[in-house]
Amino acid sequence: MKELAKVASQVQASATLKVDALFKQMKADGINVVGFGAGEPDFNTPDNINEAAIQAIKSGQTKYTPSNGIPALRQAVADWLKSRCNISYSPNEIVVASGAKHSIYIALKTLLNPGDEVIIPAPYWVTYTESVKMAGGVPVVVSAPESADFKITAQQLEAAVTPKTKLFIINNPSNPTGMLYSEQELRELAAVCVKHDLYIISDEIYCELVYNGKKFTSMAALEEDIKERTIIVNGVSKSYAMTGWRIGYTASNAEIAEVMSNYLSHSTSSPSTISQIAAAEALSGPQDEVYAMRDVFQERRNYIVGRVNAIEGLSCRNPDGAFYIMINIEKMIGKTLGGMVIQNSDDFSLALLESARVAVVSCTGFGCDNFLRLTYADSIENIKEGIDRLEKFVKG
Ligand code: PMP
Ligand code: GLU
Repeated sequence: MKELAKVASQVQASATLKVDALFKQMKADGINVVGFGAGEPDFNTPDNINEAAIQAIKSGQTKYTPSNGIPALRQAVADWLKSRCNISYSPNEIVVASGAKHSIYIALKTLLNPGDEVIIPAPYWVTYTESVKMAGGVPVVVSAPESADFKITAQQLEAAVTPKTKLFIINNPSNPTGMLYSEQELRELAAVCVKHDLYIISDEIYCELVYNGKKFTSMAALEEDIKERTIIVNGVSKSYAMTGWRIGYTASNAEIAEVMSNYLSHSTSSPSTISQIAAAEALSGPQDEVYAMRDVFQERRNYIVGRVNAIEGLSCRNPDGAFYIMINIEKMIGKTLGGMVIQNSDDFSLALLESARVAVVSCTGFGCDNFLRLTYADSIENIKEGIDRLEKFVKG
């Protein structure tokens, strides 16, 4: 048979979803495994949101919607962006898609010509490089060391720009590092983008999950000339515990929004009508559960960071947001753990899963070695059990 599409054949399966599938399969097989893999809140979706969806079904709101989303949801997104991020968008600049992952893909399809370069800071969320490739672009990775809190500088960004650079992707707060760029750091990075006429995708899906009262600044809130070249990506999965509802959205200038909407009209038609109605309730209804969940995440973060740093040979930074930590395992390289000589973080995560039954994600999938990513979007009991096992595994 003839070969499959070249671009498609180069795309790697999502490392996070792979670990999640393995973890769920092991659980289904009756194995006592603790999962720190895929980052999804363990909380149930708040009741007012579930009720809105039930009412939508009962009242027959089960038909196709406009490709870019129902007006009520686009208005709710615009109002939310105004009140939470202090940015003004009109509903025709908002495009709703089937999850923020899908929003990113459609935004990339809208922006990239074959061979356009996209600068991505590492450690990066695993999907960025692959979806850039899927959209015909070329990922250009700029690495940020742990000593810089895994944040790149404007000088690093500038050094990576070539005549082919089209776009810069930033995720703030970051998955997998949990780190938060300050307003000043964002201004410096944005200045490079303005200077070289680059678009910016600013993935702000964790913006509600920022701890200790630290300030989150949206990229588009900085200046008008930054806003017009920025596509904000956000969604309801993380802050409202709605991962399975599959609603994400972008805010951008109207021209980009229209092209994205045309694309959607030929791919998904629109996201699920029922999920859109639920998302409108999430964004415009009471917000107290969002802050209650955030407070619980903060407690879990404090616990897991304290525990990991007390294990000899392991360390991690204290992240400002999202729900991930990155464990530095450099001191474990060359040791024999769980019967395996550990040469890198892939070996460590495999040995940990096989011998201690703890699922974590090796950061090779995020563009850096010698680190593991653990999510603390899980109950404190499970976190305790998982870290007890990790500690025992490391002690040998
Ligand atoms: N961006 C980041 C940084 C993420 O971690 C996720 C989580 N999957 C997404 C986007 C996509 O979220 P969703 O597709 O569930 O809206
Ligand atoms: N974003 C989450 C993670 O990184 C969920 C899995 C995924 O979609 O990649 O774990």
